[in-house]
Amino acid sequence: MLKTDVLIIGGGLAGLSAAKALEGKKSCLVAERENRPGGLAATVKKGGFHFDYSGHLLHLRWPRTSRLILGALGSNCRRLKRDARIFAHNRWTPYPFQANLSGMPDKVKAECVSGFLKAYNAGGGTGDGSEVFSRWTRRVFGDGISRHFMLPYNAKLWRYPLERLTTEWCAPFVPLPRPEEVIEGAYGRKAEGLGYNTFFHYPKRGGIGALANALAMGSSGLRLGLEVESVNLKKGLAMVRHFGPVYFKRLINTSPLKDFVLMAEDAPAAVRRAAASLRHNTVYVLNLGVKGVKSDMHWGYFPGDKFPFYRAGLASNFSAELSPRGCASFYVEFSTAGEALDLASAEAAALKGLKACGLLGPGARVVEKLWLKIPCAYVVYNKERTAALPVIGDWLKARKAQSIGRYGGWKYSFMEESVKEGLEAADRLLGRH
Ligand SMILES: Cc1cc2nc3c(=O)[nH]c(=O)nc-3n(C[C@H](O)[C@H](O)[C@H](O)COP(=O)(O)OP(=O)(O)OC[C@H]3O[C@@H](n4cnc5c(N)ncnc54)[C@H](O)[C@@H]3O)c2cc1C
Repeated sequence: MLKTDVLIIGGGLAGLSAAKALEGKKSCLVAERENRPGGLAATVKKGGFHFDYSGHLLHLRWPRTSRLILGALGSNCRRLKRDARIFAHNRWTPYPFQANLSGMPDKVKAECVSGFLKAYNAGGGTGDGSEVFSRWTRRVFGDGISRHFMLPYNAKLWRYPLERLTTEWCAPFVPLPRPEEVIEGAYGRKAEGLGYNTFFHYPKRGGIGALANALAMGSSGLRLGLEVESVNLKKGLAMVRHFGPVYFKRLINTSPLKDFVLMAEDAPAAVRRAAASLRHNTVYVLNLGVKGVKSDMHWGYFPGDKFPFYRAGLASNFSAELSPRGCASFYVEFSTAGEALDLASAEAAALKGLKACGLLGPGARVVEKLWLKIPCAYVVYNKERTAALPVIGDWLKARKAQSIGRYGGWKYSFMEESVKEGLEAADRLLGRH
């Protein structure tokens, strides 16, 4: 039996950051079920390649978290300017589509620009997030941009009816250009600097896992290979597989909220019902090590039906150290509503698609591959989520427990936000909020 001031479930970036801020101030156990830290921000080595769970790029916005992240990485970090594109109508155009239509055929350009202006003149506006995506995108971007990019791309990514997807997640992720930017992007200069990810940081060596490894270094409370099987918030007791009971005064959860409620013995029926209504998709990432590739691009979006994947990127363009000399590495992302993906046919479609868009030329040869599965990848924003989160949140608050991070908070967020939430959860425990 172990007693600790704070039990943290999960040694991903949220859990590691919370533990770092509590170090020396509270006794702390970070139970991480995997045999490595980092959660989704981890890197797997295979055949001389370093593969992440798809592109994991650092978008830094806040001073405190930037200091922590850049301080942890030290000299093992570089800053890059985004080269992201969209492949539609058999050609490339720069990201974001809505402000960079220059690469599209004239007919598509005209349809998108006139649709945008019509929507803009009708009032536009971002809305409060309650509007459903299918209506929102037409109202904000017009019919053309919606038809040629927003609707097919998001249908492929979310695997959830866009007539039921709410838009609370859109503001930071979907750049809204001004009319002059749409027109100039279609008929003149390339629109630069739009969106949250114009610049990004990435480790020079070791893949994104280098960040978690750096944060985990010297963390006295981190224990790998420990899976929390049940918790009782009222009793302050958790049962940990192959370890036994852990008594805690306070709890920080970073595991998926839906799973956490399931393992909470004392969760009331209303909280269980709320958690049961939460939905998410599943993402399968095909990582490929390839010889004979020439492209400077970072990643591309694929709205078209011909491509069963929604995004593909060249990880070795984030850092050449991710692949052996003379080789490049790709990640190709497929989304499902939870059903298993037929890996053999998905792989064949990925190779066909990468050839069709020109990323794999005739001389390219695949020398390594690794499938990685992200069972809970994007949480679905729907009205059930909007209703469920306050119910679960009130119960957690009453029990003085915190559930944070991308999945603990059941949100669409980034690594930096998980780090921020870890630090803020520690602040609250230390009475600093
Ligand atoms: C496809 C995809 C691409 C992404 N790309 C980017 C990007 O480019 N840039 C970016 O900033 N962010 C990106 N993200 C988001 C990023 O991965 C997350 O925001 C961040 O890593 C989440 O960290 P976390 O600590 O909140 O959660 P997690 O990383 O999920 O950590 C939770 C931890 O809890 C552990 N755990 C779960 N249950 C238990 C249990 N019962 N007992 C013990 N341990 C348990 C898990 O093993 C895991 O280690 C992407 C996400 C996806 C899905």
